[in-house]
Amino acid sequence: MSGGLALTLPSTRPQLTNSSTQQLLNVKNYAFLLAALAACAQQTPVVLAPVRMPAATATTSGSVFDTQRDDPFATTNRIDWPGPNRYRSSSGVPGPDYWQQRADYTIAASLDTGAAQLNGSVQIRYTNNSPDTLRYVWVQVDQNLYRAGSKGSALFPADSRWGVRGFQGGYDLTDVQVNGTSVRPRINDTMMRLDLPTPLTPSGGKATISIKYSFRVPEHGSDRMGRDSALFEIAQWYPRMAVYDDVRGWNTDPYLGQGEFYLEYGDVDYSVTVPAGYTVAGSGVLQNPADVLTAEQRRRLTTASRGTDVVQIITQPEAAAAKTRRVAGTKTWHFRAQHVHDVAWAGAPDFRWDATSWDGGLAQAYYEFPKAGKAWEHAAEQTAWTIRQYSQLFFPYPYPQATSVAGPVGGMEYPMFVMVHYGNDDPSSIFGTINHEHGHEWFPMIVGSNERRYAWMDEGFNTYLNAFANEARYPGQNAYPGYLKNWGDAVTAGTQSPLMTAPDNIDGAALGAIGYRKPAVVLLTLRNHVVGPDLFDSAFREYTRTWAFRHPTPGDFFRSIENSVGEDLSWFWHSFFYTTDVLDIGIESVSTRTSEGQTFAVIALRRNTSIPFPVRLRVAYADGTSQDFSLPVTIWARGNRFEAVLPVRGPVTGVRLWPDPSVPDWNPTNDTWGSPPPANPARPVTRE
Ligand SMILES: [Zn+2]
Repeated sequence: MSGGLALTLPSTRPQLTNSSTQQLLNVKNYAFLLAALAACAQQTPVVLAPVRMPAATATTSGSVFDTQRDDPFATTNRIDWPGPNRYRSSSGVPGPDYWQQRADYTIAASLDTGAAQLNGSVQIRYTNNSPDTLRYVWVQVDQNLYRAGSKGSALFPADSRWGVRGFQGGYDLTDVQVNGTSVRPRINDTMMRLDLPTPLTPSGGKATISIKYSFRVPEHGSDRMGRDSALFEIAQWYPRMAVYDDVRGWNTDPYLGQGEFYLEYGDVDYSVTVPAGYTVAGSGVLQNPADVLTAEQRRRLTTASRGTDVVQIITQPEAAAAKTRRVAGTKTWHFRAQHVHDVAWAGAPDFRWDATSWDGGLAQAYYEFPKAGKAWEHAAEQTAWTIRQYSQLFFPYPYPQATSVAGPVGGMEYPMFVMVHYGNDDPSSIFGTINHEHGHEWFPMIVGSNERRYAWMDEGFNTYLNAFANEARYPGQNAYPGYLKNWGDAVTAGTQSPLMTAPDNIDGAALGAIGYRKPAVVLLTLRNHVVGPDLFDSAFREYTRTWAFRHPTPGDFFRSIENSVGEDLSWFWHSFFYTTDVLDIGIESVSTRTSEGQTFAVIALRRNTSIPFPVRLRVAYADGTSQDFSLPVTIWARGNRFEAVLPVRGPVTGVRLWPDPSVPDWNPTNDTWGSPPPANPARPVTRE
C-alpha cells in the first residue's frame, strides 16, 4: 500500500565542498596497527584496529547495560528465530525439507453494479505438503471486517483510512463443502475454520473446498478496494486459504485493516461477469480476448506487446463514447494467474487503456479521463520503467504483465495489478505511487513474507527499493532526507515502536515511519556504512532469489544476510529492529601526544544511547588537508566510552564524526571538534 508521503524530495542537506585529500598511512613501524581499505567511502579511510599504547588513562569507562538483555552486543539467541532445522537452514536458506502448502483457485463471480453486490463461487484445491495430518483448515474471510462489531471496526475509527465508514457488509456464505460433503463453517471475525470430513494426509494430501458467497461492495473498502460511481476496484473478494507453516502452524491473525496479508501460492483461474459495456483490468492473463475485445483492440494489444511505444488500446474518444453508450446484457472476462498468492481486478465502462511492453511483458494503464488527470497518460510508461528498473537491480520480473488502475484507492498492490490514486497534470503526481505499488511485486508478491506481522519485510523492503528507483528516475533528487525526517518525527512525537511490532499494533500516526521509512533508512545504513554496497547488494539479491515464491521469516533474512556478508550483525538487528533507540555517538575531547617520534591524536568518543556503530572520523590538519580513520563497531563492546588513539601526520586542528553525512546520528551537536574538516557533499544514497 501507499505510505502517504511524496517519495520524491529534494535534498535538504547543504552542499559542501570536499577539500580533503587522502593519504595512506605508513604503517610499517607500527606492528600493532592494522590498515585495511573500507569499501564504501568517497575518501578511502584508514581502518584501524583499536590502537594500544602506554597510556595513563583507561581507554574505556562505564557500562551502559546492567543485564545481558540490555547489552547491545549480546549475541542474538538464534533460538528466538525459527530454526535452524531441516526446514530452515542456519545459513538463511530454505532447508532440505522445506515445505509450503499450495492453494489453487477457480472462481466465478458476477458484479451487480446497480446493487453494488458481488456474487461468486470459489473452488479451492488445497495441497497439504506439510509433514502433519490436518483435521481442519483456516480460511480468510476478509469482507467480515465490514460486519457490525468486527474487531477491526473496534480498533480503527470509522472515518480513518482503515475505517469502515459505517458501512455494513460482510460475507454471506452458503453451500460450504469439502470434497463434496457439506461442512459447517465456524467463523471467528475474519477467519473461518472448516473441519475436514476426512483428515488431510501429510506430504501431498489434497482437499477440494467449494463455497458460494456474496457481499456488498463497500464504497470505501479500507483503502484496499472500493468504488467511485461506475468504477469498481475489487480485492479481498473471495475466501482465501490462511497460511499453514512450520513456524506458527495456522497463521490466523485477523484482518483488522492496517495489517496486510499472508497467503499461499498457487494458480488462480477466475471469471468475472460484468455489464457488457464494461472493460475489466485484472491480475493474470486474459483468456478470452475474442469474447470481450474488438478485433481492433486485439490488434493494438499485439502491437503494444511487440514494442516499447505506448499504444492506446482504448482511445480517449472511444472511452468518452463508451461512457454514455448503453449496452444491454453482460460479458464474462476470464483471467488466469500463475505462481500468485492473490488476484484482484477493476471494472469501469469508460476506461482509457494504454499499453506498452518491456522484455516481452505488457505494462498497462487503465484510467477514467479527465478524472484521473493527464498524468495517467504517462502511467503505462511509468509502469514499464518500474518493472525494468527492479528487474535489473534485484530480480527479474517473473509475470507476463503489469497493470496500473486509477481509482479512489490511494495505493494498493496485488500480483500483476495495482491500484493508484488519481493524479493531476504533472506526471510526477502519480509516479511515486505507481513505482511504490509495483515495487511490491518483489516484496511481498515474489518474496512471500508475512506482511500481517512484519511491515518492514513488505513496506520497508519496498521503500528501500523505491530509493533506488527515485534516484535513477530523478537524478539530483534524493528521498533519503524525507525518510529520515519521517522517522525523526515519530521519535519526537513518541509514537515509535520497534520494527518487529505487528503492523496492526503500530500507532497509526507512525505507520509511515515504522512500516516504511525507518526500515528503508536502516537497510541503506547497513548497506552504506556497515557492510558496504558491493557485499550488501549481492547479499540482498541472494536473499530475494533464494526466497522467491516462498515464505521467509525475519530470522531467515537475518541469517541470510549474515552468511552472505560474513559478519555477526546481532548488534545491528538488536539496535534497529528490536528497540526504538536512536544512534548518538559524540566526540568528548581531543588531545595530542607523541611517542617515539610519532604524533597521536587521542579522540575520546562517547556513546550516548544503547546503539553501537562503527566509527568513521575525519581529522583536519593545519595545512588544510585531512585524513579519514575507521574504527570497528566492537570498540563499544566494553562500555560507552572509547579513546581512539590515531597515528596522525601532525597537529590536529579539527575533527568530524561521520564524514559521510548520511549516517543517521541523531545529535549533530557533538559530532565535531575544533575547526572540523568539511563533510562529503550529499550524494545519492543508492550509489555503488
Ligand atoms: Zn506499500
